[in-house]
Amino acid sequence: AHLDRIAAVDGPVHAFLHVDAEGALATAAAVDADRAAGVDMPFLAGVPVAVKDLVVTKGLPTTAGSRILEGWIPPYDATVITKLKAARMPILGKTNMDEFAMGSSTEHSGYGPTHNPWDLDRIPGGSGGGSAAAIAAFEAPLAIGSDTGGSIRQPAAVTATVGVKPTYGGVSRYGAIALASSLDQLGPCGRTVEDTAALHEVMGGHDPMDATSLDEPVPACLAAARDGRENGLAGVRIGVVKELGGDGYQAGVRQRFAESLDHLRALGAEIVEVSCPSFKYALAAYYLILPSEASSNLAKFDSVRFGKRVERDTIEKTMLATRAEGFGDEVKRRIILGTYALSAGYYDAYYGSAQKVRTLIQRDFAAAFELADVLVSPTAPTTPFKLGEKLNDPLSMYLQDVATIPVNLAGIPAMSLPSGTAPEDGLPVGFQIIAPAHEDARLYRVGAALE
Ligand code: GLN
Repeated sequence: AHLDRIAAVDGPVHAFLHVDAEGALATAAAVDADRAAGVDMPFLAGVPVAVKDLVVTKGLPTTAGSRILEGWIPPYDATVITKLKAARMPILGKTNMDEFAMGSSTEHSGYGPTHNPWDLDRIPGGSGGGSAAAIAAFEAPLAIGSDTGGSIRQPAAVTATVGVKPTYGGVSRYGAIALASSLDQLGPCGRTVEDTAALHEVMGGHDPMDATSLDEPVPACLAAARDGRENGLAGVRIGVVKELGGDGYQAGVRQRFAESLDHLRALGAEIVEVSCPSFKYALAAYYLILPSEASSNLAKFDSVRFGKRVERDTIEKTMLATRAEGFGDEVKRRIILGTYALSAGYYDAYYGSAQKVRTLIQRDFAAAFELADVLVSPTAPTTPFKLGEKLNDPLSMYLQDVATIPVNLAGIPAMSLPSGTAPEDGLPVGFQIIAPAHEDARLYRVGAALE
């Protein structure tokens, strides 16, 4: 049914870069056969899933949205793919994204933008717009995304779906093409909080192949979601972050946020205000740390090891021509920013200062979590904007991430879930819940109660 739906609607939506109908049907048939034979099956067996195209899949094209990887077929599976396969989940295909996950609109994909199913003239968010749009358009019930500065949560917000960025280290990144290694995290996307919880439990867990992987049990996300739904939120302290959700946020976004707070109160939660004064530096720190790490991670695309090669008479010219042709403008902009910030004499002033801001943000969160069990804010300052509207204005594109970025800088988990539509334009608004490190289950408890 999902493959039929993809065939019917993905032309105009363009959520997928590659559909693996044959592979998905083969997995589904094997599940049916085993089920008929009475074999005990994992919880999500037979439930199809879409995968963001920066997760490597053995035998299936993987481009990370870049022309530089066009035609590359990975020789191995990422750990999360191995886990999906063990859970007997058919993989529908690979979803569109901003090139190397740099962007908030999917317009920086080397393969054309994804369109928001709510209004095809609008952006589906980014960088994981393909995964979110696939869910919103009923092309897939579940998807995998990656979140370095908001790329799971902001697309979820603008498509009225659910997306979770787990605690840093909670999900293995072995086989995920790196953007900024100190910030990147893979996570689940779904249509409901409980669906997302089930996928989170499949994806999570320790992996010796990833040096940053936490050696601790997978959080009990599903049980927490059911607990929240059935028992409400009596005694739960919810902190409203004073610095997120005021000036610069669309009126309808602020209105829906206020209504969600009323709803939380009605569920028995206690609402308190918390202040995180260092958040005003988060965006600036992020846009130094991310380009620095990205410029280093992307050095491996050198025409020798992977994908595209534009042949010239010397190896230097070959590398230069390959990178000049293979990378898009946003990727080049960030490589230039990053190599500048890391260059001798500037390292302390830029990367070093940004790391200090990061510590201040972590302290703000620690103080806020003394007063509240979870923190909340709008996920994004606006509803989805028109395709093309911010394409030539990188700074205003970067501002989409103002409420999501502090979470990545601190390595903590957060969820975006739907919060109705803005009265002025009828478009989706997202509500963000943030929990302390390792407490991913709290997101599901509060999210399921609110849903
Ligand atoms: N919009 C952010 C950026 O452009 C999101 C990145 C991400 O989470 N991959 O950097």
